[in-house]
Amino acid sequence: MYDVEVIGAGPSGSYAANALARRGFSVHLVDRATFPRDKLCGGGLTRKSLGLIRELEPSFDNSGLAEPIEQLYLFGPDGKTVREARLPVGEVALIRRRDFDAWWRDRALDAGAEFSQRPVGLDGARFLVAADGAGSSWGRSIRGPFRNSEIAVATECHASADLPPFAALLVSPNDAGSGWGYSWLFGRSDGVLVGTGYRRDQEGDLPALRGRILLLNRRFTSETCSRFDNWVIPLYHPRPAAQGRVALVGDALGVADPFLAEGIANSMASSRVLVESFVRQKDFSQYTAELHRHPYFRAMRYFEFLQQVVGTDGAAAFQALSSPGLFERLRRMLSDPGEAAYLAWGFALRHPVTALRARRTLRVAGRTSPPAPSLMPGQDTTPATNSKEPPARA
Ligand SMILES: Cc1cc2nc3c(=O)[nH]c(=O)nc-3n(C[C@H](O)[C@H](O)[C@H](O)COP(=O)(O)OP(=O)(O)OC[C@H]3O[C@@H](n4cnc5c(N)ncnc54)[C@H](O)[C@@H]3O)c2cc1C
Repeated sequence: MYDVEVIGAGPSGSYAANALARRGFSVHLVDRATFPRDKLCGGGLTRKSLGLIRELEPSFDNSGLAEPIEQLYLFGPDGKTVREARLPVGEVALIRRRDFDAWWRDRALDAGAEFSQRPVGLDGARFLVAADGAGSSWGRSIRGPFRNSEIAVATECHASADLPPFAALLVSPNDAGSGWGYSWLFGRSDGVLVGTGYRRDQEGDLPALRGRILLLNRRFTSETCSRFDNWVIPLYHPRPAAQGRVALVGDALGVADPFLAEGIANSMASSRVLVESFVRQKDFSQYTAELHRHPYFRAMRYFEFLQQVVGTDGAAAFQALSSPGLFERLRRMLSDPGEAAYLAWGFALRHPVTALRARRTLRVAGRTSPPAPSLMPGQDTTPATNSKEPPARA
């Protein structure tokens, strides 16, 4: 009998398995995939995720897995105006999920976790941690279905190119039905990742959004791409995170920040809170309360507000965010979620009318968007490889 079975060896599952094994618990880590495996993801790590990784595994710095980004570009909805900044080394880095996840899983095994592709379930383990991603069936039964307003859809394609590492972000315009969203170019040594993210209930004109980021890509390289893949990123909302002997972490629970939809840091942060709670209580009884009370996740309400700001007036948001004071706050927010409060207040002081509208939208959001009855047909958690459309909408 294991103390804990962790289902899913992505960033959240391997974090939980590693940290629990270090605390002396016997851990069974399960993944149905054969590693190394791919996961649709930009692989952008901010100082938040880098800090969580290093805290457990300082050897990450010598692993050669991370490509530090020093150049950041921010483009407005018109695709023209730009704010350019040099980032201090170690603030943002890019990884390839195929390589990182295999390395990260192996570190959990080094810490003492056992790995297999066959779960033992609650008959063979006293507790179960579901870290099996956005389509988790444990997730659905404990936290309920995600509302469309609580899900970002991210669509990404890869262009081969040889460029120094960089990140370029393009704020989405609020026209043609689209609300919050942004597009990105992540320049890595193996090429450029070209992506667009939007809220599932506010897709708007997706071909136009993709067209804008592909156009911007031409400024950096003549190489382009045409094959977009899609997958979902469930955004943080204070949902039930455990029931009896089962707890949820990462995308299975839905913890990505609602402003940048950064999922890796928050997924590992949820595992960190879970492990601390489990070590204290020896069960999951306090996990939900401790997670939502934790300053890290309490700050998510400001991220949600900022999402509404961009969704209400992307141009005003860009203008404010690219001013020296708020841009510095934005940069600091990549290290500390608490900085989002300053960013939110800074914006509210500059654009009180937009801020009030955003706040009102935030209050009625959720009431206007019904839960998605079927997030992933058949609860299939495999990223929809080259799927033409995002998963079914409500
Ligand atoms: C296009 C795109 C771009 C993104 N870019 C970024 C980014 O740049 N930075 C960032 O921070 N976040 C990004 N994200 C979000 C990020 O990828 C996720 O939030 C993160 O991977 C969640 O980690 P996780 O461990 O909870 O789940 P996952 O990484 O999804 O891992 C789940 C694991 O569970 C396994 N599994 C699933 N079902 C079962 C089962 N039934 N039995 C056993 N094993 C199972 C899977 O094989 C997988 O290994 C992006 C997402 C998308 C879609």
